[in-house]
Amino acid sequence: MYTLVINCGSSSLKFQLIHTESEEVMAIGLCERIGIEGSKVTYQRKGEEKSVTEASMPTHKEAVKIMQKLLTDEQSGMIKTLNEVRAVGHRVAHGGEIFTSSALITEETLKAIEECCALAPLHNPASLTGIRACKELMPETPMVAVFDTAFHQTMPEMSYLYGIPYEYYEKYKVRRYGFHGTSHSYVSMRAANYLNRNYEGMKIVVCHLGNGSSISAVQNGKSVDTSMGFTPLEGLLMGTRSGDIDPGAMQFLMMKEDLTIAEMLDVLNRKSGVLGVSGVSSDFRDIMKAAEEGNHRAQTALDSFTYRVVKYIGAYAAAMGGIDAIVFTAGVGENDESMRKKICNQLAFLGIAVNEEANSKRGSEQLISTADSKVAVLVIPTNEELAIARETISIVQ
Ligand code: AMP
Repeated sequence: MYTLVINCGSSSLKFQLIHTESEEVMAIGLCERIGIEGSKVTYQRKGEEKSVTEASMPTHKEAVKIMQKLLTDEQSGMIKTLNEVRAVGHRVAHGGEIFTSSALITEETLKAIEECCALAPLHNPASLTGIRACKELMPETPMVAVFDTAFHQTMPEMSYLYGIPYEYYEKYKVRRYGFHGTSHSYVSMRAANYLNRNYEGMKIVVCHLGNGSSISAVQNGKSVDTSMGFTPLEGLLMGTRSGDIDPGAMQFLMMKEDLTIAEMLDVLNRKSGVLGVSGVSSDFRDIMKAAEEGNHRAQTALDSFTYRVVKYIGAYAAAMGGIDAIVFTAGVGENDESMRKKICNQLAFLGIAVNEEANSKRGSEQLISTADSKVAVLVIPTNEELAIARETISIVQ
């Protein structure tokens, strides 16, 4: 049997067909520009070349139909009918305070996800459309919602409350939620497993460093703090997102540049971060290249990024009263050995030492600290789809 993992963005639908027992990825697809001109589908069957085709997809419903066709097609498919799919796992961005774990999708679950739409107005409606379209095609197949926020629901009040009038939390649920939960949970658990240690007895800092980046403090198997907040804008400098900024600076800029709230938020979400500082790109590889060629702003962007990562790790070490392990994951965390080395060197005061040879390896789970390092440092490739598939199967079973 197979597990189908679906991740709907506001204008995209990603899917993976995973063999339930072997956990092999059988097929992978991406429907892009849904509802926008020029929509296209990228599809790759296990062991074959990628294909890219244009297809009309006015809504997510058409995208789901295309996914079905690709997966069951005589030529391109991996299965004869969708009946071979044991369960579907849907990634859902925001579960608010309602969902502290993944949930079997029922009418009640859908209503509750709808209630969370106000907290993620771009993402949750897209997930709901995707779920409904799938349910129409596969009414008998059990489906599970896996939330980006759920893992962080264990944070104590002192971590998740903002220092604003408490009534705003009571009335509107304005608080820190945190995101990338599936990744933080998966890699922290894998790290404990790799080290052969009891997950429930460890203090771990997870650095999910990609285009979107967040750090979390995982104590005794539970998230106790994380850098993203009410939205995924808070915390680290990211590809295009500013991370932490004084709200007073926003008011100042809005007046100076005559910006609306929406325009200001667009600047903070799409034109800031390492792109904004460097003026080069949001892609770390481009920025590194420019820095090597002597571009000062590119170097500053990298330094600011590294500095903030180090600051958060230090803060979380203090918050947990020490750390047993630091885990690097996602595009930058998994691939950029020089960034990892710089971060770890700045943390030498914690007794952290990096094994250069191990740090230069790529593509697999690695312990990159030396045998006498006081803190274990690991690279654990994240695999959100696999984590969602496992979660889905454990819930439907
Ligand atoms: P993600 O959002 O997790 O897919 O990560 C995307 C980011 O990872 C992009 O900014 C890439 O530039 C970065 N990345 C991927 N490979 C490398 C690499 N070898 N060195 C540095 N950054 C990388």
